[in-house]
Amino acid sequence: MNSEGLISRLMIGNSMFLETNKFIGDISLDKRKELKNGQNPYAIILTCSDSRITSEAIFSAGLGDLFVIRVAGNIVGPSEIASIEYAANVLGTKLLMVMGHTHCGAVNSAINGESCGHLAYVLDEIKEGIDDETDDKKASFKNVEHSINKLREKLYLTDRLEIVGGVYDIETGKVDFSI
Ligand SMILES: [Zn+2]
Repeated sequence: MNSEGLISRLMIGNSMFLETNKFIGDISLDKRKELKNGQNPYAIILTCSDSRITSEAIFSAGLGDLFVIRVAGNIVGPSEIASIEYAANVLGTKLLMVMGHTHCGAVNSAINGESCGHLAYVLDEIKEGIDDETDDKKASFKNVEHSINKLREKLYLTDRLEIVGGVYDIETGKVDFSI
């Protein structure tokens, strides 16, 4: 399947989630048996650790479908880059989606200049992406763009991987695929 087909699969999965309001991914015993010898996820999702986001539910995906990396503020650091390279270069996944979300606590903390302990690492990264943007929704879009730019610069073998961005609305459940 080409990258347009893979993006469509995510979009259709999100539409099904919106229609059903249920988790409809395949988590059956048969599926688990089928996957015992390996995985071939169709997309990598880099998203926030926020408890209101479950990528498999949002995209109506089952076991083995998505390679999900979660970190506060969906930032890009060495561990995220390495995880993406593993999925792209070892598992052969061809699509990466960086997905931010509305009402992101990390983005809001970056806007408000709040920080303590190691959180500064995450917030400094977000601040670099959002500049002086104070609208948290616009800032979430800018933060996703920043992560994508950083990945395009740092990833090894990026030409094999299509990178797209989106923002998940935590209230409606809809993913904006416009980035
Ligand atoms: Zn967040």
